[in-house]
Amino acid sequence: MAYQRNRILVKLVLLLSLGLSASVYADLKSDMARLETLQLLIEKDNQAALQQLKEFYAQFNQQTDYQVRIDTLRELSYAYYDAGDIPASDQSRAEILRLAKLQNDQETVALMQLDDVFKLRDAGQFDAAVAKLDDIARAIKGSTKPENLMRLEISYGAIYQSASKFEQALSHYLEALRLTDQLSQRKSLTKIRRLSALASLYLTMQNPEQTLLVTNDALALSGEVDSPRLIASLRQSQAMALGDLKRYPEALVAYERALKAAQDANIPKMEALILSNIADLHLRTHSFVQAENMARKALKKAELIQDETSIFNAKANIGFALGGQGKISQAMEYLTPVLKQSRDQGDKADLEATVGEISRMYEQAKMYKEALEYTREQQKLSNELFRADRSKTVAALQEQFDADQRKKQIELLARENQIKDADIKNSRLQQIVTLLGAMLTIMGGIFIYMLYRKVKQTNQRLEEVNQQLEFHSVRDPLTGLYNRRSFLEMMKTRSEDVSPERREEDHEGPDCLIIMDIDHFKHINDTWGHAAGDAVLIEVAKRLRSAVRDTDMTLRWGGEEFLIYAPKTKPALLASLVERVLKVIGSTPVVVGNNTIPVTVSAGYISLPFSGVPESACNWEKAMQLADMALYMGKVNGRNRAYGLLSLLVPYEQALPELERDFSAAIKQGMIEIAIITGPATNSN
Ligand code: GH3
Ligand code: MG
Ligand code: MG
Repeated sequence: MAYQRNRILVKLVLLLSLGLSASVYADLKSDMARLETLQLLIEKDNQAALQQLKEFYAQFNQQTDYQVRIDTLRELSYAYYDAGDIPASDQSRAEILRLAKLQNDQETVALMQLDDVFKLRDAGQFDAAVAKLDDIARAIKGSTKPENLMRLEISYGAIYQSASKFEQALSHYLEALRLTDQLSQRKSLTKIRRLSALASLYLTMQNPEQTLLVTNDALALSGEVDSPRLIASLRQSQAMALGDLKRYPEALVAYERALKAAQDANIPKMEALILSNIADLHLRTHSFVQAENMARKALKKAELIQDETSIFNAKANIGFALGGQGKISQAMEYLTPVLKQSRDQGDKADLEATVGEISRMYEQAKMYKEALEYTREQQKLSNELFRADRSKTVAALQEQFDADQRKKQIELLARENQIKDADIKNSRLQQIVTLLGAMLTIMGGIFIYMLYRKVKQTNQRLEEVNQQLEFHSVRDPLTGLYNRRSFLEMMKTRSEDVSPERREEDHEGPDCLIIMDIDHFKHINDTWGHAAGDAVLIEVAKRLRSAVRDTDMTLRWGGEEFLIYAPKTKPALLASLVERVLKVIGSTPVVVGNNTIPVTVSAGYISLPFSGVPESACNWEKAMQLADMALYMGKVNGRNRAYGLLSLLVPYEQALPELERDFSAAIKQGMIEIAIITGPATNSN
């Protein structure tokens, strides 16, 4: 933390120049040194560090330097947290806030609101959490402390991660990682921390390959710091990624290293988690006896520190391990309280999965009466879930599920999409339900595998189901427009229908592509907040839909990029369509709450087939690429305008390399005829 040292140095100089007593100076200097030692100790031995931090804090008095106090309290709050003492951790943070207010330290006061951000997140209120983050960002804008800016980026990342907006989470985590280069103290350590967070994001994104790359980078750096705590967490991510890649023996080695590091770091909570994960791994490879052993060890650890979640997981694991060994009644001794807890928590989707697995367990044991009982309950829950899904909007779903249930959130979203689809094609739903049923039956044979996933909350079955459902989902959840995938699917079918030799003599007119990107959208997010940004996206989508013909397809291509696919559109019609699009977006600002937000788009467009070139030479992907370059021309030439590629003035083979090399030069050289359509006049331009 660069600023601490700088701040304190400034203070030392001040103190000295004011001629204050040498003893104050000496106290400050020794406090700083002590704090630094303790900061390093936290990485190595949580319990020793906690003890010493408490002693250190207890001897503070009115004369103790403000920054030393704040930093000590922050370390205390981390150490308490790691030790599982959340109330004490919260209390330390409350004390920071109190002191910062007394000191009128606005930046720290603003940053302490990050706690509220996470509370909002935990309550499932993602938009409110992001809005709060935007407030904090405004309050610390222009801060000279990279570690504070970094903390903000990390928080954005964590919130987006919880809201399953993984790409946005990724960009904030990467920004946080970039900021580590500006730190002057504990740089390697912080970098490893950032890499570690990135690794767990990639895990959640179901990208085990990338997880491995990042953990390897971080582990390569870890020689520079002495932090078993971080190593434990990195090895754990590594192990999970290896497990996801089904590289089980390697995963086990990584878990064992993680366990060793967690023991070195003296963090029983982490040990319990790792033991639980090792048990999971054994369940997955059907090594039920080992699984039971590990789960029992995990339970012991968890009970030692009274960690409810770990106790719950360990008991479930023991139950499943016993079930795998055919000891059904013993298994149920563990699973009954687990079930009860699931029921009490009222999470039907969770409960439905658990109940289903238990019914399969009985089935395996040929205890059909009991199996039937659980199957009935499962069916009832499943019906309720489907009914509930139908009545909820996708947006509400997105808000509803809390951080620990990301996986299920994705599933339900996909299911919602699926049901929408099915409402249109009802017979299709029947097929899908049958398909899912068949899948479940197949999976039934390996029920333990799913039980394991259940506990880890990355349920493999759900994942498979998700993939099925996601495959069928065609809509973007935010705007309700078609998504990129559905377009790709459609184009795949199209290329089967369209003759690659088709040229413009087709009387019906060519198919047209208009790609659009909102102008200065970052500015919109920065000024009015991400929630307003989302509202703008929704409104833009609505306006676009109103501007096109029924036969045209409007879709969300990416973040704030949209695409219109207008089949059979004659050139004159196309120009007026593009003009209409610019007008419908730019002529009236978007009203979000009390804010009036001017919005314009830039666009690029092209016909397909293009300029008499058969599609075998210039396919839709190539055409998109050219339209994208035209869009870019619109951006650099003032935005709120569209550039259209009308026709080639030289042979395609000659024009293409030039267009790809320097689009604007190719225009100047007269290789291509371009149309420029400008948008409506706005106040913002
Ligand atoms: P330009 O005029 O050059 O396009 O400028 P720009 O600010 O729009 O730049 P760019 O296209 O690079 O920025 C896109 C931004 O859109 C970055 C990203 O944070 C934001 N974004 C992407 N997806 C979403 C979303 O779903 N919601 C919100 N609120 N913002 C998003
Ligand atoms: Mg963009
Ligand atoms: Mg943009």
